[in-house]
Order: sequence, then structure tokens, then C-alpha cells
Amino acid sequence: MKTITLKFGGSSLADAKQFIKVSKIIADHEGRTFVVASAPGKRFKEDTKVTDMLYACYNLAAAKQNFSEQLEAIKKRYSDIAEELEVKFDFDAEFDVIAEHLATDPQRDYMASRGEYLNSKFLAAYMGYDFIDPATCIFFDKQGQLNAEMTNSTLGAILATKQKAVVAGFYGHGADGNIKTFSRGGSDVTGAIVARAANADVYENWTDVSGMLSADPRIVKDPAPIKEISYKELRELSYMGASVLHEDAVFPVRLAGIPINIRNTNRPQDDGTWIVPSKKNDRDTVVTGISGKKGFSSILIEKAMMNNEIGFGEKLLSIIASHGMSFEHIPSGIDTMSAILDSDQFRHVKSQLIENIKTILKPDTVVVESGIALVAVVGTGMVYTKGVAAKVFSALAQADINIRMIDQGSSEINIIIGVDEDDYEKAIEVLYNAFFH
Ligand code: ASP
Repeated sequence: MKTITLKFGGSSLADAKQFIKVSKIIADHEGRTFVVASAPGKRFKEDTKVTDMLYACYNLAAAKQNFSEQLEAIKKRYSDIAEELEVKFDFDAEFDVIAEHLATDPQRDYMASRGEYLNSKFLAAYMGYDFIDPATCIFFDKQGQLNAEMTNSTLGAILATKQKAVVAGFYGHGADGNIKTFSRGGSDVTGAIVARAANADVYENWTDVSGMLSADPRIVKDPAPIKEISYKELRELSYMGASVLHEDAVFPVRLAGIPINIRNTNRPQDDGTWIVPSKKNDRDTVVTGISGKKGFSSILIEKAMMNNEIGFGEKLLSIIASHGMSFEHIPSGIDTMSAILDSDQFRHVKSQLIENIKTILKPDTVVVESGIALVAVVGTGMVYTKGVAAKVFSALAQADINIRMIDQGSSEINIIIGVDEDDYEKAIEVLYNAFFH
């Protein structure tokens, strides 16, 4: 039988109605044995996520202010769900422990983790599953990074003794012995860790959309859903702004070759998106998706005979690195080299960085430009297809969009174009029309 690890996001567990949908999904397949749960998310647009309520409550406690009203509001979120589902659960005892913690030694991560802890413990009780507290089996090292191997073996051993269990998302055991959380949205990472430790056939990530879309729906009307995408393509698209999963959620399952299936709790009949190690029919789709981001700047450096100067590029990169910056792209010519940088980071170090370039590299000219947007056209199929770049450029030219930079990654799974920020939306739209219509 196929074994499945499931992760449910906050909107999937926001109220009793959602819990009922979740229980049906879990019960629908015998192999859905291990479940990871987030804290209750928003029930409606203006609602507040429990995690945000917990942070607010912690802030009051840390400032030695009265937090009881805030804590009561959080407790009500849970007791409302339990009442509607007619499940007996001693939230009073749980919240007494939390209140005691807040009054004596408030810790931010501990407090934030209670959202997942309580929701998962409750879901386990509701489903008749065991509860696993990740404080006992997901470990961080001294640098605050996941200790992947120790976690995998400890958690794997625990899962091997269980038939069905719910693991709380988002946190684990810090190197100092205290609770430590992942960054926001981190239950996705927990789901991937559990899928790997359970040796699952599939990691189902249940959310409130039917998978990934091939372009940003705020720009393109009804973009086509992505049925299948490789880990590599996902990385390219998410790096350029398409977000569906926490960035670190791919690593554990990629290591184990487990596919991720993004599904919609509100439309379980939809197949969603499959994120796979490599696509079965690589050649079928030339372009899988188009994404992009605004907010880039470029430094263009010209120097006669640059081409002959050994170590020029290395020096430029180390100047950039010495200002604590990473670079996005380095398009270069014979006597020119430019660096595309994130404008927000660049702004703080700009004058010093340019000064260093002038003194160390002694260029003929240095020109800084901002207001650049990058657009990425991504697809593993383009390696086998002629005319993709021609199509990109003619679509942009016909729309009268000026191209300010071109970069095709050496793996040939993307073409990245720099355009003026004002042309960004139009560029995405015309490229989508060129490849998807
Ligand atoms: N509840 C946490 C957050 O809101 C973690 C998660 O949902 O994945 O970020």
C-alpha cells in the first residue's frame, strides 16, 4: 500500500468546518498514516492567525503587561472548535501551563510553538491518532540549523513504533534545550522531515489553492495550473517570487526522492500540482511557468582590455561579498561586466561599494541603475526546443518592451530577462500569452 505523509496548513484547520474536511481527507485513504498540522489560520480575510495572536501575547508578557485577555482569546479559538466538534479536550489544563510559563520566563519560540502543539494534540485526539511532540525528535544544532541526520534517525525510530500519528509542525528542540521554531510557514518543513523519516511514497501538502499556477494570478487572468513540476523548476520559479511552499521544505524530500503533491483542502477532487525529482515527459511542456520580481539594481563597469585582466571578476565579486551582499546575476561582455543586485540591500552600502570598485578595479566608467524587474521563463523542456528565446524576445519587442538584461542559466532551464519595473506586469502578460495560448 502507498504510504502518505500529509501536512495541513493553517487555513485547512482554522475552524470546526475545516477539521471535518481534514478528517474526511485523512480517512479517505488507508495509507494516510502520518499527519503534520499547523496552528489555526485565518477563518476569513480580516481574521488573525493563532500564531500572530501568540506572538502578540508573548510581547505583552515580555513587556510585563497583562496578557490574560489575549491568552483567553487564543483559548477561545481552540475551545470553539472542540465544542462544535463535540470533542472533550482539557484546554484549561494546557492554558494553565502556558500562563505559568508567560508569568515566569516568557520565551518567544516556545510561545509561538503552542499554536501547532495544541492544534496537533487536539487533531490527534479527534482522529484517534497518537500525538508526537517534535520537541522530542526534531533537533536543531548550535547554529540554529536543522540537525537533519539526528532528526531523521530519532524520528524514524519513533514513527516505526506507530501506526497512525499527528506530529506538530513548525518547531523542535533547540541546541540549548529550549523549544525552537523554524521561520514562518515552517510546518511545510516539518511535513517534509516526517515524510522522509517515514519513508513515505508521497508528501501531500494540503492548503487552500489547487496547486501552483503557471503565472501570478494578480497579473494574468486565470493562469493555467501546473500539473507537474520538477524540484529544479520549482526552485527557479520560487526564487523569482512564485510562492507555494516554504523554501526549505524541498530539501528533505528531495534527498529521499519523495514527490510532493500540493492539494486543496476545499477541493479535494482536484489533482493539484506534483513536484517531482524529474518529470516523466520532460519534452511535453516547453515552459512550465513564468515568474518575476521587481526591486533590482545594476552596476555596469567598463574598462578597456578588461578581458585580459586576470582576476577582474573575482575582485568584483569579493568587493560585493565584503559588503555582506550576494549577487543575482553577472552578465558580462568583452570589456564590460555588470552585477545585478537586490535594491533593498544595495541601498545601504551603495556609496561605499561604488567607491571600492573605483579604487580597487580602476574602471573607465561605473554606471548604477535602479528600477529593474527580472522575469524568469522556466521549463526543463526548453533544452530540447528551438526558438524559445526568439519567442521571448519577439513577444517583448512586439509589446514595445525594452530588454535591459538577458541571462540564460547554463542548465538551460530558464531565461531571465531584465526589464524596467514599469514594464513588469506587461512583460509577464505577453510572455504568458506567447507560451500558454
Ligand atoms: N503557524 C506558523 C506560521 O503561521 C507555521 C506554519 O503555519 O507553517 O507561520
